[in-house]
Amino acid sequence: MANLLIDGCLLVSACLTLPQDSRPEWLSEAHSEGHRLWVYAGHWQSSLADLTTKLTDVGIDDAEMTAKSRLAHCYGPCQWLSALSEDAEALLDTDPIGAQLLKAAGRLNGDTLILTNDTSRLRNGHPFCGEEEWQVLVKSNSSVPLIDLAVQQDRLRPGIESAVHRVLHHGRYIHGPEIELLERRLADYVGVDHCIALSSGTDGLLLAMMAYGIGPGDEVITTAFSFASTAEAILLVGASPVFVDIDAATFNIDANLIEEKLSPRTRAILPVSLYGQCADFEIIRSIAKENDLVVIEDAAQSFGATQAGVRAGGLGTIGVTSFFPAKPLGAYGDAGACFTDDEDMMVRVRQLRDHGQDSRYHHVHIGINARMSSLQAAVLLEKLSVFDEELNARQSAAYRYQTLLVQAAESYAVDLPELAPGNTSSWAQYTVQMNERNMVQAALAVRGVSSAVHYPLPIPAQPALAGVACDCPVASVVAERVLSLPMHAYLDSRTQNHIVEQLIEVLGQTP
Ligand SMILES: *Cc1c(COP(=O)(O)O)cnc(C)c1O
Repeated sequence: MANLLIDGCLLVSACLTLPQDSRPEWLSEAHSEGHRLWVYAGHWQSSLADLTTKLTDVGIDDAEMTAKSRLAHCYGPCQWLSALSEDAEALLDTDPIGAQLLKAAGRLNGDTLILTNDTSRLRNGHPFCGEEEWQVLVKSNSSVPLIDLAVQQDRLRPGIESAVHRVLHHGRYIHGPEIELLERRLADYVGVDHCIALSSGTDGLLLAMMAYGIGPGDEVITTAFSFASTAEAILLVGASPVFVDIDAATFNIDANLIEEKLSPRTRAILPVSLYGQCADFEIIRSIAKENDLVVIEDAAQSFGATQAGVRAGGLGTIGVTSFFPAKPLGAYGDAGACFTDDEDMMVRVRQLRDHGQDSRYHHVHIGINARMSSLQAAVLLEKLSVFDEELNARQSAAYRYQTLLVQAAESYAVDLPELAPGNTSSWAQYTVQMNERNMVQAALAVRGVSSAVHYPLPIPAQPALAGVACDCPVASVVAERVLSLPMHAYLDSRTQNHIVEQLIEVLGQTP
């Protein structure tokens, strides 16, 4: 997919001769081939004035209305490329419009072409090019990324741009009005009383530990198979993680193995809902209740998922999620949140995230700085508005994979992910298991299909945890067999067919 920035003068001349309600053929063609079409937002008024004058000159009645409707029709498949303050530097150029287009195009990825019919701009050569040549110049790039955030950004651009600009102008970069609004919306979404916006999921886990006073001498029961962050939070407060093996079908902590790991020092259970599917909270909560333990839910990957109708984040005593860009709901930087119905805990986490202050420069706890920035909250509010739709799209994509992979599963001993009864998944990852995973991954990469290994080692096998007991045969085998395929809300069936075709060919060639 190439970026094509369309010079206003090219649209004006096309609109002069176009029949009503039609578009130039090259424009429709570029659009249907999936290229990203842009018009520079700083030029539409001059294009409109120009076209109105030219239509008047050729004797069209009501030239202005005609110009508006013809231009609007051409703008239809295009996105607006923002005019920014730095573009004003082009004013003194011999060709200010050409110079502004160059500046704006420079902010897009390097492969941008500027389509024009202006002869002096065309003489300057690349990135300017005529409407007949762009097809030759577009570099075909058929590689499939693991996660594509650009399509989502295209969809949300107007909202995200105004939201970000609002923050730039009100200037409350920390504790801005977006934070409180986001906290309210997220709490409602999850169905809990309180949400506290944070700087990351890792900080959320750490603050949950701190808020419950978990520290040296305490044990926290957790899964052997997760992102390192889960164990970091336990170790950073000086407590000891006690690792439990996983269930091979759901990749989550095997809840039936928890009780044998309890000791008088156990304070909390920290289950992770891996790849987007919730751990078995019914069993976990009942063990916690019987033994007076706290349940800290690591919902970093499962935001949006449900268990027995309850949303992830609301399944434990306190829930923690992450808005790392590649998570199901992602910011444009690090961000996270805690969820709880417990008002005391809410107050505590709120204070701890802000240096333990209960009022300005009055510190009642030793806290940290774990605040979310207003800019991230502004981005998240925009993304939250389409999150449910995206969740549905991820679910459809997951079901398409399940269907497309049935045959491969049988022929090549590939294990497909399974949902436990009562669960829906946010499909943070679509992860299959296979033998010779490393060979398959390398061969897919050669064919331009991205994939990832989440995670190559159980946590207790990481060098940083040397000396911690690792009694997790299932996690050890799973870590050698898992492969996550491309997954995001804008993954279309054509791309999925391609991915699966490539995977099946590779599996057929793997000994
Ligand atoms: C991403 C992730 C985290 C950490 O979240 P950050 O926002 O990146 O700090 C914690 N646990 C799991 C399971 C994760 O996937």
